[in-house]
Parts: sequence; structure tokens; C-alpha cells
Amino acid sequence: MTVPAYFSATYAKARSKFLKACEERGFNVESHHNDRAKGAEGEDLYMDVVRIGPDNTSKVLFISSATHGGEGFCGSGVQVGMLEEGYFNDLPEDTAVILIHAINPYGFSHVRRVNEDNVDLNRNFLDYSQGLPDNSDYAEVHDMLVPDDWHGPAYKAAQSKIDAYVAERGLGTFQAAVTGGQHIHSDGLFFGGFKPTWTNDTLRAVSKQHAGNSKHLALLDFHTGLGPYGHGELIYVGDPTGLPRAMSWYGDDVTSPEAGTSSSAIVRGTIDGGVCDMAPNASHTCVAIEYGTLPVMEVLESLRADNWLYLKGDISSEQGKAIKKQIRDAFYGDADDWKNMIWERGTSVVKMALEGLREQK
Ligand SMILES: [Zn+2]
Repeated sequence: MTVPAYFSATYAKARSKFLKACEERGFNVESHHNDRAKGAEGEDLYMDVVRIGPDNTSKVLFISSATHGGEGFCGSGVQVGMLEEGYFNDLPEDTAVILIHAINPYGFSHVRRVNEDNVDLNRNFLDYSQGLPDNSDYAEVHDMLVPDDWHGPAYKAAQSKIDAYVAERGLGTFQAAVTGGQHIHSDGLFFGGFKPTWTNDTLRAVSKQHAGNSKHLALLDFHTGLGPYGHGELIYVGDPTGLPRAMSWYGDDVTSPEAGTSSSAIVRGTIDGGVCDMAPNASHTCVAIEYGTLPVMEVLESLRADNWLYLKGDISSEQGKAIKKQIRDAFYGDADDWKNMIWERGTSVVKMALEGLREQK
């Protein structure tokens, strides 16, 4: 297979490539069925997990795709390619790699960022016993993001308000207000939910099973839609004490939203929290690898359009089809040059992660 052939045009095709690649190598896949929704083609939805390496290793590397649904075309392609090319054939005996294919299978299949409950899973992993965070920044922009029509008078009025907000307070402030995560409008954008989702519960169980007793845990979570075209920014997430270790593994260009060096705003409730909770005695080195596609305002526009479509529009209409193409283009650079860039950076980062784990005592 060529590199572009590792990538797929639909969730169903991506899943079958992943399962076939595992089967051909004798790897046993655990398939976690999400019975709360169906796929865009009526198919069943699964989070598929494969462990490569022995049970109970002290070191574990998780490589995950599709936390944000339609971003899964990218991560799935890298996972399939690494299986096909035997990247994990010679792991040290104290190390296992866990590939998680489709953290959010609903969003992957329907090409949406969110899950079946309109929840952004990378905002859902909070400690709900502590109450919900303050969302006053988002409250101010919600009505601008969710107009009653799309490209009609309500849209145009909302657009003027967004333009005024950005002109007055800057794009960074707008991006932070919109994307930081909110727990007040279940029909809004970047909604983190009111409680743990199916993915949250499932991912915690998977993490406990595969890394509960580990000493060193690393996570690479594949994302798209932020930063320069095809560039793979490594965004450090989680406990700040791990940032120097991540930099020693991956280089000084590891970014941190908290330090203001990332294309991402500061966000709360990312998936690494759930994974790390289940491995309480391990060191945690977690990064999101974020590949650029289109300029950030175009990406946000596609998310607003998709949100409007499922709330108030008709998916089968011409407008609906145009919006689905728009969001697909915003999260999947469906071109050979983009796929080759994803592959080169993705595989080199995986090698650095394994090398970094190797050095841990
Ligand atoms: Zn993402």
C-alpha cells in the first residue's frame, strides 16, 4: 500500500482497514460497541482497541484517533499504516502499544466533531464532583455562534457581531471564548456535557485494563484543524510537571496552551485526564498532535455550520450536503501531499515516544 492508501474516505472503510491489518498480524482486537447511536450508513459503531506487546508491561504508549470524530481520518490513516509497515514488531519487552481506533465513532462516521450527545469529548473529562466550571466567556458569544438561519438575515446579524467582537478584542480572545469548553448550552459549540459520556466511561475502563499498573504512560492523541497546513504541532496536555519530560522526548517545539505557545486555547476536560486517572502510579507524558488544515476562522465557521445543520437544517438538502463537505474539508486534508506530511511527522513522533519511554527507569 502507498501512504495515501492507508487513509480512508469513511469511518466504515477506516474501521475495516484497521481490523484487517490487525487480523493479518494475529493481533486480538477488543471492540467496544456504542449502542447509543448508529453510523451515517446505518452501521454499528465501535471503539476498537488493540494491545501490541505482553500484558502488564511497566511502560505503555496509547495512540488514539477520532477524539473529535471527523478528525479521525488522519489518526486512523497513521494507525493503519504503522500496523501495515510493522512499526511495532520489535518493541522492548517492558513496553506495550495500545492503539485506540475511533474514540468517538459517531463523530467519525457522521463527520462531526461532537459525539451523539453533541458533546466535545475533549472537554468532557472533568471531575464532576467539583461542580461545573465558569462559562461566562462562552455565554457572551453563544448567540453569535448559533443563529436561527444559515446565510440568511440572522446569520448576517450574527456575523457582524462576531466581526465587531474580533475587531475589538482580538482573534485570540474570541477563539478562547468559543473553544475553551462550556457546560451551559447543550445546543452550543464546544459543549463539554453535564456528566461523563459513553466514551468517557469506556476509555477509563480501557485505560485501567491496559495501564492500571504501569509505571510510565505516554499518550499521543491525533487531531486536525489548528495551525499551519499539514504541520504537526505537539501540544502538551495534563500535569505541568511532565512538560520538561515531553520536551526532552520530542524537542523544544512542544507547545503549551497554558504558556501561550500553542495554536490551541487553554481547554479543560481533555481525554488525557481520564487515561491518567486510571494509572495513578505512573509518570504521564501526554501530547495531542495537531495538524493544520484551513485557517482557524474557516474551521470555526464549518463547526458553526454543522452545529446549525443538526439543530435546524436538513442534512439531505443541497445546503446540508454543502455543509457536510465544508466540515469534512476543514478537518481532513484529503490530498496526497497532506497525507504524506501527516505520515512523516506522525511516525517520527511515535518513534520519539518509544525512545523516550525506553529511557525511563
Ligand atoms: Zn481535535
